[in-house]
Amino acid sequence: MAQAIANGHISGDGPFTRQCSRLLEETLGAPRVLLTTSCTHALEMAALLLDIEPGDEVIVPSFTFVSTINAFVLRGARPVFVDIRPDTLNMDEVQLAGLITPRTRAIVPVHYAGVGCEMDAILALAEKHNVPVVEDNAHGLFGHYRGRPLGSFGALATQSFHETKNFHCGEGGALVINDPRYIERAEILREKGTNRSRFFRGEVDKYTWVDVGSSYLPSDLLAAFLLAQLEARDEIQGRRRRIWHTYAAQLADWAAANGIRLPVIPEHCAQSYHMFYLLMPSLEARQALIAHLRARGILAVFHYVPLHLSEMGVRFGGKPGDCPVTEDISDRLLRLPFYNTLSARDQERVIEAICSFQVP
Ligand SMILES: *Cc1c(COP(=O)(O)O)cnc(C)c1O
Repeated sequence: MAQAIANGHISGDGPFTRQCSRLLEETLGAPRVLLTTSCTHALEMAALLLDIEPGDEVIVPSFTFVSTINAFVLRGARPVFVDIRPDTLNMDEVQLAGLITPRTRAIVPVHYAGVGCEMDAILALAEKHNVPVVEDNAHGLFGHYRGRPLGSFGALATQSFHETKNFHCGEGGALVINDPRYIERAEILREKGTNRSRFFRGEVDKYTWVDVGSSYLPSDLLAAFLLAQLEARDEIQGRRRRIWHTYAAQLADWAAANGIRLPVIPEHCAQSYHMFYLLMPSLEARQALIAHLRARGILAVFHYVPLHLSEMGVRFGGKPGDCPVTEDISDRLLRLPFYNTLSARDQERVIEAICSFQVP
């Protein structure tokens, strides 16, 4: 970051932004990656690039963060919520088929906890109906599905570098452009609707207003912060892998004895180690464990509240029973402390506290 300041270039698209983009392009095998101010903004760019209009339908899991669908609703889209699979908690690709209509303009899978969705089936359906796929890969950077990087499947994919993710710069994100036909317009949308990027490459002799757009460039100061982490990706992912497997190994007996389910990672998925969760037998058992841990100074939290039952979701016609798996899981899921600097000793304390709890 001191180097960015010394460079005298801390606005967007400086040398550190370029290094982050190149590193992500190489590891994802993407023709172009644009750093953005957030994953939310990358999703908004995706909605603009796909020319989403009022009345268009966009299919998303109900079990996700608001931004996955809000970015499309902002352009007038109607959300169509698909339920999740009970094993990976990812978009249920079997139910997806029945939700595609002539108005469907995008399918947005989310690789929950960085475990790949069933991309073979999702891509086959999307191709058959000629609907673009946008991967919300906020959890999944450096995860793989059948040997291929998460974020490399959709025409577009989005990454988050928010503080809560494996790699971060406080607030930040990226738009991964796998279909090269979107590259030129994406650069324009990100630069306030101007062809400034082409101007800096010497492709035009002045830059001007050519399309709609906004300002989606992060400061090069943030890119410098991010680059240091991306460069340390093996070490960071190695730590997270150890933390994840320690939980899995040391909680296995306790979980089996108490009717608690641990995360399921299919053989063909290499996860990104974003999260470790427990599926408790009931809402009451989850709330009791939260309280048990809180009394021992340990913060464990639940996760997404079903979007189809949120205030906005209900306005779009969502009602209880629409996505039964989402509704059930949302009540029972508990996330355990999981961060890059979690020490072995602290994790030991968390595991001891958990194992001293019994489901009544
Ligand atoms: C964190 C997250 C986002 C939003 O990321 P920001 O960078 O904070 O905008 C979107 N989708 C999912 C699935 C997320 O977990």
